[in-house]
Amino acid sequence: MTVISNHLPTAELQALDAAHHMHPFTTNNELAERGARVITSGKGVYLRDSEGNEILDAMAGLWCVNLGYGREELVKVAARQMQELPFYNTFFNTTHTPAIALAAELAKLAPEGLNHVFFAGSGSESNDTNLRMVRVYWAEKGQPEKSHIISRKNAYHGSSVGSGSLGGMAYMHAQGGLPIPGIHHIGQPDWWAEGGDQTPEEFGLARAQELEAKILELGADKVAAFIAEPIQGAGGVIIPPSTYWPEIQRICDKYNVLIIADEVICGFGRTGNWFGSTTMGIKPHIMTIAKGLSSGYMPIGGSIVCDEIAEVINAIEFNHGYTYSGHPVCAAVALENLRIMQDENVLDHVNNVAGPALNAALTQLGDHPLVGGVNVKGMMASLPLTPNKATRAKFAMDAGTVGFMCRERCFANNLVMRHVGDRMIISPPLTITADEVEIFHKRAKTALDETYKALKDGDMLTAAS
Ligand SMILES: *Cc1c(COP(=O)(O)O)cnc(C)c1O
Repeated sequence: MTVISNHLPTAELQALDAAHHMHPFTTNNELAERGARVITSGKGVYLRDSEGNEILDAMAGLWCVNLGYGREELVKVAARQMQELPFYNTFFNTTHTPAIALAAELAKLAPEGLNHVFFAGSGSESNDTNLRMVRVYWAEKGQPEKSHIISRKNAYHGSSVGSGSLGGMAYMHAQGGLPIPGIHHIGQPDWWAEGGDQTPEEFGLARAQELEAKILELGADKVAAFIAEPIQGAGGVIIPPSTYWPEIQRICDKYNVLIIADEVICGFGRTGNWFGSTTMGIKPHIMTIAKGLSSGYMPIGGSIVCDEIAEVINAIEFNHGYTYSGHPVCAAVALENLRIMQDENVLDHVNNVAGPALNAALTQLGDHPLVGGVNVKGMMASLPLTPNKATRAKFAMDAGTVGFMCRERCFANNLVMRHVGDRMIISPPLTITADEVEIFHKRAKTALDETYKALKDGDMLTAAS
């Protein structure tokens, strides 16, 4: 047996990794040459790697470690639950306390009228559930043709065949025959990149009205649902203009189209409320949850479903579910995560301490010559990089080249910021302190300075024509 310890030399671990481990969303051969960074432990907002570096994780893992690393309470609850009942399914007329308690707690925290939870193991699985559930709902209501789903370009809803089809990532659709039929994608409300000379408000309204045009094109009696993230995450933290969501809501109400709010990132405090739908003023019929639900300590997701849909689905056998739906250990950890969030008033911390500190730091970074704007809502943010602040120009080089350079400079300065194209992405643990935000600010500034200097020295600050 191969015994892996953190005490093996980094190069040996990297060689084993390169030989046997296929990484997601990665060109593995390129990674093999560079060598993957080996993360060994975490505490609070900091990660430690096999070389002993202390890295400030301004991405909270993958938008999920909302309470930070090393929370003993979550570890204890997991251990206790594993001893008591490590697994039992919820298929065959059985249930267990962790799933019961978590479903009830979620119903309590969710907006009014959303009182039913279908569990899954991830966000992708939850959106697969939603895809089938809305179609079954309309079929049971005598409208089986009302089955088409409208989403947006550059949306992210997961990586399974169903959820990857719901998402609007062109580079994912290019592989493996996605999207499946019956899913349509309209434009995204990305004013910074696509708004041209329109005001954000004009642009937001125009993009929302693409939904109405698509519904009329397909026929309202054919459209089951509209799915969207309240604020796009993986697409680049795209905060829609203020006009966007009210118009979407009006259109969905008018044509009887269900709204699925994908809260996988926005949920559980990231935008300053329990759910992004509250922040953005959306009345969803289903909310997708995962990531922050357990602070990433256990893989768990789910769909929080409104009374009206639950009434229809509960009247039939819905032939759907996962071995790990409501997994007792995952559910127990998620429940403890929600308890801590409430007992420690994490939402207050976001709204009164961490959020304002992050906002102030990003506003200052917005003055940097490379930064073309500041998009921030609560604890999720993006800084689009540009060779020309006035025109919001793209770089002449391939999209993502500069973002990648900046991410590497962040790593070199012991900071994790992700890049999406040429946008830097920020989504730290919600528990980050004001002092830690200041450390983030210093390291991010250094990384931006170094990136700017490299671009200047290499004569690469030219805009795409
Ligand atoms: C991450 C994410 C998903 C997919 O969740 P997985 O747990 O990776 O399957 C779905 N929707 C959104 C908005 C996400 O950010």
